[in-house]
Amino acid sequence: MTKQNVIVSDKKSGLNMSITMAMSKSSILTMTAQKPGGYISFSTTELLKNLEINGEGRINAWVESMRASSPTHIKSTPSLADHDRRSSWTVSHPSALDMFEQIIDASKGKQIVMFLDYDGTLSPIVDDPDKAFMSDAMRQTVRKLAGCFPTAIVSGRCRDKVYSFVRLAELYYAGSHGMDIKGPAKGSKYKKGSRAVLFQPASEFLPMIDEVYKHLVEKTKSTPGAKVENNKFCVSVHFRRVEEKKWNELFQQVKSVLKEYPELRLTQGRKVLEIRPTIKWDKGKALEFLLESLGFANCSDVFPVYIGDDRTDEDAFKILREKGQGFGILVSKFPKETCASYSLQEPDEVRDFLQRLVQWKRPSVLGGQSKV
Ligand SMILES: [Mg+2]
Repeated sequence: MTKQNVIVSDKKSGLNMSITMAMSKSSILTMTAQKPGGYISFSTTELLKNLEINGEGRINAWVESMRASSPTHIKSTPSLADHDRRSSWTVSHPSALDMFEQIIDASKGKQIVMFLDYDGTLSPIVDDPDKAFMSDAMRQTVRKLAGCFPTAIVSGRCRDKVYSFVRLAELYYAGSHGMDIKGPAKGSKYKKGSRAVLFQPASEFLPMIDEVYKHLVEKTKSTPGAKVENNKFCVSVHFRRVEEKKWNELFQQVKSVLKEYPELRLTQGRKVLEIRPTIKWDKGKALEFLLESLGFANCSDVFPVYIGDDRTDEDAFKILREKGQGFGILVSKFPKETCASYSLQEPDEVRDFLQRLVQWKRPSVLGGQSKV
């Protein structure tokens, strides 16, 4: 077990209290696939082993991984084998829309709590990460959802940035992969007690992250299309607009900067390289922390639903599998190795699913439509 500092602020008194929270060993580098027969040719454990940045000869594994995380690059002409894989994957990870009634049945008598990734889940993946806007229709749906269930956004982006996209004060926000958690600005009708939640387990890394950000901007400016984003407690190097033949060069640049910072580690998301403190914290830990903050620690009557599209979301999917509570939904058009139970193909389907949840919970909210 390790210990982390937790800052809890009391809205009424304006006081910040620092408490220490014991946490179990991180799962981030020991993720194993629940479903054998994944369709990427390497196992997750093997892949992550290969992704250690300090070993020589591992660069190709990284670049391969960057390709694997950008399947649109390699799946432009689906083969018969691709089709078979997709059919098989759809059986093992059925659409959450098709399974809606079974999902609702499983949640009976339990409090549903919603966790939503942002990029690629609520908003489409676009070339310019600064323009990853969510639609007004999606915002309306998420607003209604938060009126029905406690709802949190869990993103790799910094909290302020993701808030500027979502703009809903009634939600919980976990930015920087859960390293910056804040409760609803309006207060929460779900939370027991009046203390507002503010949790920043990596505060001591702020100056270092700032420094690395500047170095990375300088180092990668010779790679056309590379975009470095300061996410407060982590740094993202987006390669959405970098030509594939330049990925190796970009990775080398990032690696050369990180050599000077053994306290930071490199992970990879969808079309993004991410630099984070080595603390044992991830989206799965953020999910657990939020459930605890909401008063659901060690409760059997809670039903968390986590929807995300990224490798970093797997930490949360895995926690739900281990707890045997609720389930994960992977947003993907392509078969992927995942600990999620169900799938949705794209943000439009996410919206349909969220709308059905709202409609089921409060038929009157969506114009008096009947329950499913
Ligand atoms: Mg995402």
